[in-house]
Amino acid sequence: MNKPLILVVEDDSAVRNLITTTLETQNYRCQIAPTGEAAILEAASYNPDVILLDLGLPDIDGIEIIHKIRSWSKTPIIVISARSEDTDKIDALDAGADDYLTKPFSVEELLARLRVTFRRINDLTNDNIQNSIFINGDLKIDYAAGCVFIKDKELHLTPIEYKLLCLLAKNVGKVLTHTYITKEIWGSAWDNDVASLRVFMATLRKKIEKDPSVPQYIQTHIGVGYRMLKV
Ligand code: CA
Repeated sequence: MNKPLILVVEDDSAVRNLITTTLETQNYRCQIAPTGEAAILEAASYNPDVILLDLGLPDIDGIEIIHKIRSWSKTPIIVISARSEDTDKIDALDAGADDYLTKPFSVEELLARLRVTFRRINDLTNDNIQNSIFINGDLKIDYAAGCVFIKDKELHLTPIEYKLLCLLAKNVGKVLTHTYITKEIWGSAWDNDVASLRVFMATLRKKIEKDPSVPQYIQTHIGVGYRMLKV
């Protein structure tokens, strides 16, 4: 099998070297881009498996790069941001990024995010073969029948809880922003919708999680959104 190719977009050479050295010892191949212009060009020429994108680049804003790449490519993009503000992460995710890392991050954290991303790519491929049933640990969704089971015991979900669970399941491994979720569920994204989303998420968790205070399936990204984890 070919080693997966990662496009590392980062203008800080020290950070870039740390990332590429780490990835190369873990059997990934790297292509580097120190500017936004190089990133767009190389994403098009090399067709990488994953793009690691620093948001703060000297020439083009990271969010704009995501929009450009998303106009022709579905390659997973993991954003690396020094800015700790939630709005940057939300803008990046809404523009089409798949995940984010906040600087400073550990090498283990970076590798874990890559593993999640590759697992998600593989699941998407497998889903094409068997897409009528979703299985994640003890959780099973039968899309055709519209039924949800935990350990083969059927759960009684409200229509909104069901829609919410399916949305998270279809994007397993990916962080979905509050705005994205509320638009998908209610067609709008008012502050009230986000408040409702919290309520529905709490009732859904009570039904699917063994211990809703330590959720196994649905992870909260405070101020950003939610992600279903592959268990
Ligand atoms: Ca930078």
